[in-house]
Amino acid sequence: MAKILISKENLFHNLKIISNHAGSKEKVAVVLKDNAYGHGLLEIAKLCNEFGITKAVVRTLEEALDIEPFFDDILILSQKKFHTYSHAFHIALNSLEDINNLPDYCKVHIKVDTGMHRNGILPKELRSAILGLLKKNIKISGIFTHHRNADCLSTDFFWQSSIFRDVKANVKNICEELSLDIPCFHSCNSSALFRHNNFSEDFARVGIALYGYIENDSTFNLPDLKPVLSLWAEKITTRVIKKGQCLGYGGTYQAQKDMTVSTYDIGYGDGFLRLNENQEYLTAKGYKILGRVSMDNISLSTQDKEVCIFDDVRELAKIQNTISYEITTTLSRDIRRIIK
Ligand SMILES: *Cc1c(COP(=O)(O)O)cnc(C)c1O
Repeated sequence: MAKILISKENLFHNLKIISNHAGSKEKVAVVLKDNAYGHGLLEIAKLCNEFGITKAVVRTLEEALDIEPFFDDILILSQKKFHTYSHAFHIALNSLEDINNLPDYCKVHIKVDTGMHRNGILPKELRSAILGLLKKNIKISGIFTHHRNADCLSTDFFWQSSIFRDVKANVKNICEELSLDIPCFHSCNSSALFRHNNFSEDFARVGIALYGYIENDSTFNLPDLKPVLSLWAEKITTRVIKKGQCLGYGGTYQAQKDMTVSTYDIGYGDGFLRLNENQEYLTAKGYKILGRVSMDNISLSTQDKEVCIFDDVRELAKIQNTISYEITTTLSRDIRRIIK
């Protein structure tokens, strides 16, 4: 059966680099949304807990409930209805209207739109958000924003950072005026964290770097991260095809000589998507994928019992004209995740 191996050694290597750069383990919130970017929510949550990380970020309440035993603080980015609640949870407020959907006495991080124009309240809505939350006895435990372009060499990062500095000052004033505790502030994802030389916010929300990738322009000083996930497929059958015979759907691969080929149990149904047919893809050991990717099969010219399809997704991402995030996140939840 196909499987995903999770390298604990590489994950811990990355966590060490990230927490050193952030200043401490407490300054790192690991982003575990979407099945930990395809790596396996519980597997990664347990390992991060073992390393000593205490904060996590997820998308939904269900994910938060699954990992509650492993973290002190869990930020839930996108959930409208709450059938249950825990004091480890901090709910992201994405709009003023959403205040009505929040449970009384919960904890909230207000998301502020500093220029991405996706989610969050506007800076000028801060006062009404804070007053609205107070009316429901909700504790404002954090204020945050998200960069639209931290991975690229452009002025956007500085522009949004400066707006967020004003937001911080404004929130501090409002809190003093209303005798509220000052909430924590956070704005950095992986790319933004590694653009800071002296990181001074309360914590960073680190996703992709945890898994061993960073998409920043190469002009930046990049950390030496190691990919955590490798995808493995098992042989189903082996056969000899004759010179001139064609392989798989559409017969797009034609044998130039008699050759031995095997099929392996991975395909687009498992999240290993069909390839751009104008570009060849080689597995980690250099076997070329022959013909089209089927739903549950690929063909390779080897007889190895097991083949590593990739242990670094950057090459595949390049061929697919996408980003590393998309390759790992697409991998099916049904594939076994094994920690090694
Ligand atoms: C996904 C996400 C992150 C993590 O981003 P990376 O680039 O993977 O580090 C951080 N913050 C928010 C709000 C996110 O949605």
